[in-house]
Amino acid sequence: MSLRPSALPKLAECACYEADPNPGPAAERGSALDALFRSRMAGHPDQAEMFFEPTEADLDAVDWAATTVRALAGGTEVITREQDCRIDIPGFDKPGTADALIPDKLAHADLKTGQKRNYREQMAAYALGLMEQHFASEWTAHLIFCDRKEVVTLRFSFEEAKRLVGAVVARYRDPQKQPTPCDYCGWCAKRETCPARMALAAQATEVAAPSFDFEAVLSDNVKLGKFLSACAVLDDFRERAEAVARERLQAGHEIPGWKLVTRRGPEFVDHVSVGQHIQALGFGPVLAAYGNLGAKKFRDLWAARMPSEKPFPEELVHHGKATISLRQSKQTNQ
Ligand code: SF4
Repeated sequence: MSLRPSALPKLAECACYEADPNPGPAAERGSALDALFRSRMAGHPDQAEMFFEPTEADLDAVDWAATTVRALAGGTEVITREQDCRIDIPGFDKPGTADALIPDKLAHADLKTGQKRNYREQMAAYALGLMEQHFASEWTAHLIFCDRKEVVTLRFSFEEAKRLVGAVVARYRDPQKQPTPCDYCGWCAKRETCPARMALAAQATEVAAPSFDFEAVLSDNVKLGKFLSACAVLDDFRERAEAVARERLQAGHEIPGWKLVTRRGPEFVDHVSVGQHIQALGFGPVLAAYGNLGAKKFRDLWAARMPSEKPFPEELVHHGKATISLRQSKQTNQ
């Protein structure tokens, strides 16, 4: 596998990570929104729509990102042409590509879709290449989490960027490196063959050996932890196995014990049709039937429809009951 700066966040978790050559829908959406962002910044509003049909939320996220990056540049030049944003980074086989360069501010911006993750090592690599290119000793990276409408700013000295990147690259090039199951396993090309994952999955029954005794698992905290870690890996395998079984059944093959079931899609009335009858039905009963509106949607509506001098009424926001869920803190095969 050739070393790309975009793989650094994953390699920082597992030095054996290998990018899946078939990107999933989330990665495809990320690339499409990057392209749309470049088009918007260049004043070509529709270019990326040729291969991707963005939703209203996508367009809103990209427009927010473009406004934010311009604001961060504070009127100075913003470079977004892909070929001008390539960054050669020492020690890497392939260059990186930032989404926007703000040279006068010694900064770059990178659009990220989906949830907030750690991109420190990737940003450090970009910063390292850009510091060399601009003869700078410090660099700023703005992570633009466009779905969450949040900016995370990271600042690097040359030494810090070099140390951060060097540590991950050294682990990646270590011939003795071992796979470390992590949050990125689901995106890894080796996810179905990785020995560390196989060992974890095998624990599901091993922890209760010699025979499967669930009470014994529940009564022992160490066994309980191992069992849950094994189930997390088995869950991934189950999803993949279900997809394969669905395909084969659709093609007319037999999978003993399994069949396809078709459920009727849900019935609904679209909001435009409801709007046509809202006077007769009454606003109150219709709104009550729709139920509560998420605070974020209400904030967005307020920002879009109210005059800017009218402050958002924070007192209207209710806070639901906090929920407690179980989350894996660190995958383990000990
Ligand atoms: S599947 Fe294996 S190699 Fe890939 S990230 Fe997970 S532990 Fe690492």
